[in-house]
Amino acid sequence: MSASKIVAGIAVWMITAVTLVAQQQHANVPHKSDARIVAAMQKVSAERLRKNDEKLVSFGTRHTLSVQLPADAAGGITKAAAWIKEELEGYSKACGGCLEVKTQTELQEKANRIPEPIQLTNVYAVQRGTDPESAKRIIVISGHYDSRNSETNDYSKPAPGANDDGSGTITVLETARVLSQYKFPATIVYLTVAGEEQGLYGSKQFAKMAKANGWNIDAVLNNDIVGGDKSPGQDATKVRVFSEGVPSNATPEQVRKIRGLGEENDSASRELARYVNEIGGQYSAGPRFRPVMVFRPDRYLRGGDHLSFNEEGFAAVRFTEWQENFNHQHQTPRTENGIEYGDLPKFVDFGYVARVAKLEVAVLASLASGPAAPARPRLLTKSLENDSQLAWDASPTGQVAYYEVVWRSTTEPTWTQSKRVGTETTAKLPVSKDNVVFGVRAVDAKGHRSIVVTPVPER
Ligand SMILES: [Zn+2]
Repeated sequence: MSASKIVAGIAVWMITAVTLVAQQQHANVPHKSDARIVAAMQKVSAERLRKNDEKLVSFGTRHTLSVQLPADAAGGITKAAAWIKEELEGYSKACGGCLEVKTQTELQEKANRIPEPIQLTNVYAVQRGTDPESAKRIIVISGHYDSRNSETNDYSKPAPGANDDGSGTITVLETARVLSQYKFPATIVYLTVAGEEQGLYGSKQFAKMAKANGWNIDAVLNNDIVGGDKSPGQDATKVRVFSEGVPSNATPEQVRKIRGLGEENDSASRELARYVNEIGGQYSAGPRFRPVMVFRPDRYLRGGDHLSFNEEGFAAVRFTEWQENFNHQHQTPRTENGIEYGDLPKFVDFGYVARVAKLEVAVLASLASGPAAPARPRLLTKSLENDSQLAWDASPTGQVAYYEVVWRSTTEPTWTQSKRVGTETTAKLPVSKDNVVFGVRAVDAKGHRSIVVTPVPER
């Protein structure tokens, strides 16, 4: 054999080996990164976040019940809502009217923490997707713009709410400003709600409206207390991502099935949290900065607006700073025994908020760029066998370069194995379904992934 033939033979062997490695890779090996997403992340401005937060605080109180203040009052929630709307309209003007800025105003009947019926207003902007089929997919980012102080129903004394939840509101605004400079096939909704502190009333109204109108919401990223309070013990390299395990809206029959199959760690919200975790590993929002998944709906015995979406059957997660300082939440500003209380801008780390906003720019842009998840994923269980056969229907939005089957052992938190299967909609793997959890996702030519969906058994 001539030297050139040997070289050619080695080359063929190497290509084959590389292809084999590429076909079965670890799921946590990053996919191709999108330069456009990296560029968008760089546009997030900590200084602008600070200015917007100070503006929100300047309304004195944004208490939900302050809607009752006289029209000539200096501040209050009505004026804050008007400012948020104006701000979103400004971003829309800058992108040639690419945002539809809207309000949802509904009567909230007398209820717990609502002593008299009042009007509740949610302010939101819709960035309609550019592809007719993909535009039906909706990705939501949310925060609550209402605030409170030490007294649950006091609506006249200061309630600055710089962190809770000025930080979430400015994150929504900043992602809207940045992402409205780009176009995406799917639709993004930038949402700020009222009524959270009184009992999640604004988000309940919004989620109910979305459900009633048949909105196809793929994901909700709720931001509540993402200010990175500057107290000792804070870890500014981490943001928590809370997600429910067993879906809130599951029927007793569905819960029985979840229990029987050991699916309590694979709700749609949990898969969304894993998606955020992977994007956080792929796109750097700052040195060592990363999302940390918490497998629990929210902090112990507490709640937030994502739960309103969960109740209506939508995948929704909550972003919250690593460690909260309770002297700086729901407190009337004051100094007592040398301790300063109050939710003030000076305790907020705007560099940290910028990192959270960058992470979510990457998540929103990846979701809105990529294909829809494969439909009707199934695990075929006609015969007892140690191999596993999966099948699914094509992603309804098309734009699929390949599908990927992912799996993990039942005790692992994240997808650790994957196999590319081209544009086929079936796969057979020499791995026993009894020992692992399977999922499948769609990936486009630029490496944007869909959220993983887990298969249901089919006989
Ligand atoms: Zn809050």
